[in-house]
Order: sequence, then structure tokens, then C-alpha cells
Amino acid sequence: LLHIDSARKRFGGTTALHDLSLQLQEGEILCLLGPSGSGKTTLLRLVAGLERLDGGSMRLGATVIDAAGGPFLPPEQRQLGMVFQDYALWPHLSALDNVALPLHRLGRDKSREQARAMLADVGLADLADRHPHALSGGQQQRVALARALAVRPRLLLCDEPLSNLDAGLREELRDLIGSVVREHGISALYITHDHREALALADRVGVMAQGRLLQLSSPRALLRQPSTEFVAHFTGAHG
Ligand code: ATP
Repeated sequence: LLHIDSARKRFGGTTALHDLSLQLQEGEILCLLGPSGSGKTTLLRLVAGLERLDGGSMRLGATVIDAAGGPFLPPEQRQLGMVFQDYALWPHLSALDNVALPLHRLGRDKSREQARAMLADVGLADLADRHPHALSGGQQQRVALARALAVRPRLLLCDEPLSNLDAGLREELRDLIGSVVREHGISALYITHDHREALALADRVGVMAQGRLLQLSSPRALLRQPSTEFVAHFTGAHG
């Protein structure tokens, strides 16, 4: 579904991505795992169309979405859903209206009906009329997930969606994201610096460091056959 071919990105003198290539299969949840500064967010922003490539190319299905010196598909035409660590909900709208807003083309009744169904899928049927300030962090992130999925994106992008939540809630929401995304048959690119989160959620995990992809494997293969000492250490494969 997503083909990244030799992606390169520089910021001034810093190379954030060094000719990184990967492919995400249809229906797959791929987690990118790496320490701060490894280039995860940069890669996600490139896929989202919020940055432009300095080298290489990216394709979504058959469409080239970015190629250095070549075509560029604007973010709003990429059919992506996005979930960030800071939820980014509209404060003046209820949970229901936050989810219904991107569906406005369906008309008021139909968009609200779909939004209500999506909120029920993330366990928020009873809180649909509340505004974000009256919801907990975990509940707000559920609304953000419902909003991202309601438009039936081709690909869901998640940037550390659990990092503002406390430990107990993190596990619960991680499992919810996994089950809702799989239920809806959506593909996801999910970035995190937490190896437990990546290993629990992903079909495949890509370990990044310093703008490079060190290994891309199933969680099981990653733990059994880490390609380097760094990968072993960072995925908790040692002891
Ligand atoms: P974190 O988990 O801390 O967000 P990350 O793995 O997502 O880290 P990136 O944010 O992609 O890493 O950053 C990769 C490198 O690119 C870092 O060295 C960072 O300082 C640099 N960088 C990212 N964005 C910019 C920018 N807009 N201007 C200058 N340098 C940037």
C-alpha cells in the first residue's frame, strides 16, 4: 500500500533521514520504534505531506505522493487519518460533532449517524454529547481515533498517541486502537519510542536510529534475531 523508496530529508546541516526504504502492506499495522531524534516523526510528516522529500520517492497505492524534484500530492488528497499525542480536538464542539465534522459532505443526519456509530466502536456511545474539556485524556484520544477512522482513510498515521496517558490507560487504549483498526481493515503506520507498545500492537516493527531503518521484522523475529546489539537492547530482547 505504502512504498517508500530511498527517502532522504535534511534540515540545515542535520540529515533526519538517510535513504530510508520500506513498504507497508495492505491491512498491516507497522510500528516504527526508535529513540528521540531517530527520524520517526520526520518520516510520518513526509507521508502526511507536511514536509517534502530531498531525495527518493513515496507512493500510496499506484499514486506517487512525493518525489524529490517531481510530483507532490497535497495532504488533503492523500486520504489519510491522523492521531497525534495531543488529540487536537475542536474545543467548542461536542465529541459527536468533532467526529461528524469531517463527514459533513454526507449531510447532517447521515454524518451524525456515522459519527455516533464510530464513537460506539471506541466505547464512547454515552459521552457523545460532551465537549473535550469534560472528557479525560484517554477519552479525548478515543474521540480523536473515532474522528480519524470515520472518514475511512486508506492509511492511519499515529504519532505517539499514548504518550500523554498514564501507564494503565496506555495499555487499554493500545489494545483498543489495535482491535478497532483491525476490525475496520485499516492499515496503520504507528510511531512510538516504547518497545512494549510496538511489540504488542504491530504486525511488523521497524527499528530506527539516526535516520536509518536498522531492522524491519515481525515482533517475534525481532526478539529472536535482533540484527544488531542496539536493536537487541532497544527492543528489550536482552533479559
Ligand atoms: P522524537 O521521538 O523526539 O519526536 P523522532 O524520532 O521523531 O524523535 P524527528 O523529530 O524526526 O525524530 O527528528 C529527527 C532529526 O531531525 C532530529 O535530529 C531533529 O532535531 C531534526 N529535525 C526534525 N525536524 C526539524 C526541523 N523542522 N528543523 C530542524 N531540524 C529538525
